[in-house]
Amino acid sequence: MMKSSEAALAYFHRAADQLELADSMRRRLIIAKREVQVQVTIERDNGDVETFIGYRVQHDNSRGPMKGGFRYHPQVDLDEIRSLAALMTLKTAVVNIPYGGAKGGIAVDARQLSSRELERLTRKFIDELHDVIGPDIDVPAPDMGTDARVMAWIMNQYNKYHGFNPGVVTGKPVEYYGIPGREEATGRGVGIVTLKTLGRMGHKPQQTRVAIQGFGNVGSHTAKVLKDAEFKVVAISDVSGGYYRKDGIDVLGAIRHSNQNKMSLEGYREAEKITNEQLLELDVDILVPAALGGVINSDNVGKIRAPIIIEAANEPIWAEANDVLAERGTLIVPDVLANAGGVTVSYFEWAQNRQFYHWNLDRVRQELERVMTLAFDSVWDLSRERKVTLRTAAFMLGIDRVARATELSGLE
Ligand code: GLU
Repeated sequence: MMKSSEAALAYFHRAADQLELADSMRRRLIIAKREVQVQVTIERDNGDVETFIGYRVQHDNSRGPMKGGFRYHPQVDLDEIRSLAALMTLKTAVVNIPYGGAKGGIAVDARQLSSRELERLTRKFIDELHDVIGPDIDVPAPDMGTDARVMAWIMNQYNKYHGFNPGVVTGKPVEYYGIPGREEATGRGVGIVTLKTLGRMGHKPQQTRVAIQGFGNVGSHTAKVLKDAEFKVVAISDVSGGYYRKDGIDVLGAIRHSNQNKMSLEGYREAEKITNEQLLELDVDILVPAALGGVINSDNVGKIRAPIIIEAANEPIWAEANDVLAERGTLIVPDVLANAGGVTVSYFEWAQNRQFYHWNLDRVRQELERVMTLAFDSVWDLSRERKVTLRTAAFMLGIDRVARATELSGLE
């Protein structure tokens, strides 16, 4: 299996070649500024003591404070966090918000923890990290396995050390210094770029069949936004398996089922049961991977049939499969563009935390649309102009912005 960092590096060099970026600058941009590994030991509810490993990789801050989520997932390791941190640097540059990039997480299956255990774990993690994060330094946010609740604990714990500072973390509950529309933001951003893509290709949503892999925050909101835009969402999936309905899934019904069933689609009977593998290989017009990295790889790439793939997840396609798909003419809208809606609304939240000012949901949505549209158009036009894939174009745009800021900051 390919490693996460190898995939990201392969993409990086391809774009850097196009930009004729010097080797010294490449090395400066690839190596993270700081990588932290910490021990997180908690007492379980039954009195057992358990130790977990936590990470924060702070990749780059040439364009602003570092920014990126905390992931709680058993597969979390330094290699994965490292490449996801670098991806954040590019993502914030592609949508042109004033941030660098970071990522962190704990190797833990959060679903096995009670709410009290999750709170203890999170507070302990912040005890270890509070000195290296902060509203001007590095601002965490939700990612896989974490949510608004976890962000509230992070803010509260950080404040115990440093005083009132809501801008230390984003993705907080709306009632606790959060912003309306942050939770749906990644899915909404995916919806915006999907519509833009169709527009450029001259297709209509009503005639477009979509399969969405993953039904967590990103997948479920993407499904809802696409359904509202009159796409035909024919398949969805989560860890319990895939669900297919030729005439379209009742998305709101599926969300209701999942909400009432501990966030699982298990037992959803309004569609034909398929496997996650089958979902990826469906004959649809658009495939939206919205879960783990590397789900499209050299093992299954030969069976992927969708002509358009929108990367709602981070790194859902390993580089080896990416090249096979590109050769075949599959249009891939890359993660650094497609899922940047989340961090964009995080930026609105952070800015407002610092100004004690509020936008309503309509304004948040409107500004998100503006930022995503500008980024989409820039990437699309660059890709046409330079005859490169959308991924290479997005990486070129991001790398160029980061390299310029790095150069301008000087060396001393
Ligand atoms: N974890 C999300 C991402 O991968 C959001 C990061 C943020 O809002 O800072 O983009």
